[in-house]
Amino acid sequence: MSRGEIGFATLPEQVHRKSVKRGFEFTLMVAGETGLGKSTLINSLFLTDLYKDRQVPDVHGKIEKTISIEKKTMEIEEKGVRLRLSVVDTPGFGDSVNCEEHWQVLDRYLTDQFKQYFEAESGLNRKSIQDNRVHCLLYFIPPYGRGLRQLDVEVMKKIHKRVNLVPVIAKADMLTQPEVKFLKECIKRDIKEHHIKIYKFPECDSDEDEEFRKQDRDLKTAVPFALIGSSQTFEVNGRRIRGRLYPWGVVDVEDPGHSDFVKLRTMLISTHMQDLKEVTHDVLYENFRTQQISQMSQPPGKERKSSPLTTGFSSILPPHASSLHLSISKLKRGSIHADQVSETDKLLQQKDEEIRRMQDMLQQMQEKLRASGKGGIFSESVEGRIGLGGPPSKRGSRDSIIDV
Ligand code: GDP
Repeated sequence: MSRGEIGFATLPEQVHRKSVKRGFEFTLMVAGETGLGKSTLINSLFLTDLYKDRQVPDVHGKIEKTISIEKKTMEIEEKGVRLRLSVVDTPGFGDSVNCEEHWQVLDRYLTDQFKQYFEAESGLNRKSIQDNRVHCLLYFIPPYGRGLRQLDVEVMKKIHKRVNLVPVIAKADMLTQPEVKFLKECIKRDIKEHHIKIYKFPECDSDEDEEFRKQDRDLKTAVPFALIGSSQTFEVNGRRIRGRLYPWGVVDVEDPGHSDFVKLRTMLISTHMQDLKEVTHDVLYENFRTQQISQMSQPPGKERKSSPLTTGFSSILPPHASSLHLSISKLKRGSIHADQVSETDKLLQQKDEEIRRMQDMLQQMQEKLRASGKGGIFSESVEGRIGLGGPPSKRGSRDSIIDV
């Protein structure tokens, strides 16, 4: 450190060292009909064999089948950086004739992970929270057809507020290049027409170099990614490639002229993993959390008129008010026995009374400050905290924010 420097320039290295030590976690979900190549793609992406024991159901099995959720976790290490990757598959998805079941199973799973995180976050031990939230869902669209099917539209619309949706075209080697282009246009048109929110890439920073900007542009225009997967490798021109062997030659999975496999891998692993995690936490989970809190602070059956907790005043209440809120939410979560009900009602009334008193106190304080000419300062800080007056955040300005 030279003279005149305080030393905080090492902060990025400190963060880097700490993150590397802790390791990284990422959860990816795949959804799409059986046989569209989901497991092959996952194996190709992460160079593993996650689905050795998978049994593909026959036609009868497909009709009978209900959707299940299958989660596999693996630890990958590259240049000393550890990644704990979880892949959630949905065997049976798209196979059964019961359309309702499709989105319900996915939605329930995604919502349950948010709920678990929310409960863990509101508990006492917040240090070692097990985070199972899904950061990205690759939605497989069949290469046949002319865009999204009714099932795809229904499912995507039901789950888009719970997860970063990334649509992909499966088995793109079954299509010629003009056909891929046409199918991409149809899918994009359907996504727009049905107001489906897919993962929106962040805007490129103005100080990025031209190469990065081009890569960013290419990624954005490639959506929905047209993919080819393979678990086999071949020797072609002295080079070992992962591909699919046909009588007329080998399709190279990693050749950008053949498929968008490399683009998807770059986006998922090298460039946008952190952003996918941030959008999951800051936008999708935050929307869920806000919804949960406002639901919990409303007594069942009747709407509470401008409760301080629902209007966001909770952040300016005295410290014990948040534990008060917690105890109310626990009481309202319905985990109480019948013989405790009257006792609970009494407690709830007391807590309500307490909150009302605090609200009155706040109002009085505000009036006093206003009378003494300092009202502006106070209201400014209050507004800042409840999100009324502050400038919109960078994340807030992104279209991926979904209103609930
Ligand atoms: P899943 O049921 O969606 O997990 O599908 P699998 O990964 O088990 O693949 C089903 C079949 O499709 C296997 O025979 C794969 O070899 C084949 N397959 C996987 N990916 C591709 C692809 O990109 N193109 C073609 N033509 N076949 C593929």
